[in-house]
Amino acid sequence: MAEIQLKHIYKKFDDGVDAVKDFHLDIKDKEFVIFVGPSGCGKSTTLRMIAGLENISDGELLIDGKKMNDVPSCDRDIAMVFQNYALYPHMTVAENMAYSLRLKKVPKKERRQKVEEIARTLGLEGVLDRKPSELSGGQKQRVAMGRAIVRHPKVFLMDEPLSNLDAKLRNQMRGEILKLYRELETTFIYVTHDQTEAMTLGTKIVVLKDGEIQQIATPQELYQKPANQFVAGFIGMPPMNFFHGKCVADHKKQVSIRISGQDIPVSEEMAQHIQLKHMLGEEVTVGVRPEDMRIVSADESGFDSEVQVYEMLGSESYLYFEHDGGDVAVRTEAGTAIRKGDVVRFGFDMEHVHLFDALYGNRI
Ligand code: ADP
Ligand code: MG
Repeated sequence: MAEIQLKHIYKKFDDGVDAVKDFHLDIKDKEFVIFVGPSGCGKSTTLRMIAGLENISDGELLIDGKKMNDVPSCDRDIAMVFQNYALYPHMTVAENMAYSLRLKKVPKKERRQKVEEIARTLGLEGVLDRKPSELSGGQKQRVAMGRAIVRHPKVFLMDEPLSNLDAKLRNQMRGEILKLYRELETTFIYVTHDQTEAMTLGTKIVVLKDGEIQQIATPQELYQKPANQFVAGFIGMPPMNFFHGKCVADHKKQVSIRISGQDIPVSEEMAQHIQLKHMLGEEVTVGVRPEDMRIVSADESGFDSEVQVYEMLGSESYLYFEHDGGDVAVRTEAGTAIRKGDVVRFGFDMEHVHLFDALYGNRI
């Protein structure tokens, strides 16, 4: 059992850096939660506060209803896997994995038994007597996980555990981490800066920026209904395209969004929504995912532009344009005859656009 509640948690470092601000989150028992955000957004600091490796400046941390702020790290029953693995170089794999059991004075025979059992599930049987320097990156990663599993913690914290591995191994290890999660049936918090990793692993994702939670949602929700422009641009590859726009209405009360001098009519539903939110006459940021963009014919509305980059990915192609000082990516079919240097018209259906207020970037 390990339910974690973070209640309005703040971290201010001595040098005045506000690393975490008003972090408020409930994590249920046996839940798998991902913290994702760019480097420096406070992911590690938050994990370290949960683990007890960093003081909490303000707010409350509860584990199973008990306040943990002042409980020492060793009494929290939490295991953490670090990005750099932090293995003891002078110890063998078996010794590294058994270290916490030795501290707990578990008898030698029982230690060996436990380590061997976990080594089997992680595919480390053959390297138990090696030193960390004699292991591959993937093996070191497994040892770090094994060392944490041995302790049977109530909570598993993983801080970018795969970022030192190559892409193929990373994919494989992701699968193994999910398997491990199902087998261990403990609460997991997994930190990554990689949105693809978050999207493939996550059921519940917490997106962070500058020490603040931006959105807590499932991968689908994050993708389909980003709460603000930051989340919209952070989740998805290639990123969402953004256009400056203004909500306007003509004399027949048809609502459109004006982008680069063109009025693009919106659906009845969106028109009502714009009016309801008092956005008529206001500046907006229009977000469109590359897959919701199209190359259109000359009689459709759109923007004529020269292809800057043509990228063929096998099953699909991407065309990149410059527009209004920004990059625009358009997904198109693999067999397109369009190439770099061609001038074509790109457009999009207004049903698929995301609207954000131009000032704060909040979803409208
Ligand atoms: P992330 O893990 O998301 O990359 P961190 O939690 O490591 O981010 O850092 C969040 C912010 O706190 C950054 O601005 C970082 O420079 C700052 N920070 C981290 N550790 C310390 C520290 N010990 N002293 C002062 N500032 C720190
Ligand atoms: Mg970090």
